[in-house]
Amino acid sequence: MAKIAIIGAGQVGASCAFALAQTGLARQIALADVREDKARGEALDIAHGAALLPSVRVEGGGYEVIDEADLAVMTAGANQAPGESRRDLLQKNIAILRAAAGEIARRAPRAVLLVVANPVDALTRAAIKATGFPPARVLGSGTVLDSLRLRFMLSEHTGIDASSIHACVLGEHGESELPAWSSMSIAGMTLEEYCNDCGGCDARLPEVMRAAFDREVRRAAERVIAWKGATFYAVAVAVRRIAQAILRDERSILTVSSLLEGEYGLENVCLSLPCVLGRAGVLRRIPVKLAADELAALRASADAIMAMDANAERSFCP
Ligand code: NAD
Repeated sequence: MAKIAIIGAGQVGASCAFALAQTGLARQIALADVREDKARGEALDIAHGAALLPSVRVEGGGYEVIDEADLAVMTAGANQAPGESRRDLLQKNIAILRAAAGEIARRAPRAVLLVVANPVDALTRAAIKATGFPPARVLGSGTVLDSLRLRFMLSEHTGIDASSIHACVLGEHGESELPAWSSMSIAGMTLEEYCNDCGGCDARLPEVMRAAFDREVRRAAERVIAWKGATFYAVAVAVRRIAQAILRDERSILTVSSLLEGEYGLENVCLSLPCVLGRAGVLRRIPVKLAADELAALRASADAIMAMDANAERSFCP
């Protein structure tokens, strides 16, 4: 039974702790925050449900609570204000990431580190450097959430359970992300074939989905933030799924962000591709076959992330 440390007991961190406490994945969940009482309060609020939860010890406080964690989930950092993009958070969050990474490396040297704070791809690469961990042990939640949103959108249109729809978003968790349309399937059929078979409406699924993608997936967070100020429940579900794949050594495939090593001719950049996850972290990246326009979009996405990486490095070495 593992110990999970969550760094940052804000809306995302507390939601992750709440989601994880219900899984039985961990013997201990530790919430650490510079606002130590906030972390203690969130932990105690969850711990009060102990009689009806799988056996788990939930505690909160400063960084001392994360000692010897098996999985560290990095959620500390500013979130987007309405009108702000994830990329706008880079300067604020890189300093927080570096401070937290030092604590994680010292206190939980064998942990797998899952970065959730934004901009997640640039922070994942910075976390590899700042912890000195092997790249396979540092990953970002990447486009797991975006892929959930895409499957939700397809499910709403088709009436098919989202868990039976295979679809993923690749690249940056942000503006340059791309849906891998050519590899999406329902019961083994492409979207085009599914539409031909279904005949339930006049709309053509590929065109409808391409038109809706921007609003329903790429800009989904903006919509939620405009309505309620932040997003935190669905990302907690994504974190729970990633944690399960890692701690149960499942070898499940999820679109997390990791350091590329020559896939599609790209390297030294973190972005999301389908990855096999297990106890050691990212076991393998799967370079799915992409159409020419998708490949071009993936390269453009890598360029956008590399521009952020360069900014992050400039802020480190002024
Ligand atoms: P929040 O403001 O509610 O919480 C952030 C917490 O971090 C605060 O409690 C703060 O005290 C803490 N913190 C700041 N500096 C710290 C440090 N050095 N050490 C420890 N704790 C520190 O924000 P939130 O809504 O929880 O969002 C957190 C991050 O998650 C943001 O960057 C947001 O953009 C990101 N996010 C990512 C996804 C995703 O899919 N990857 C989805 C939603 C939100």
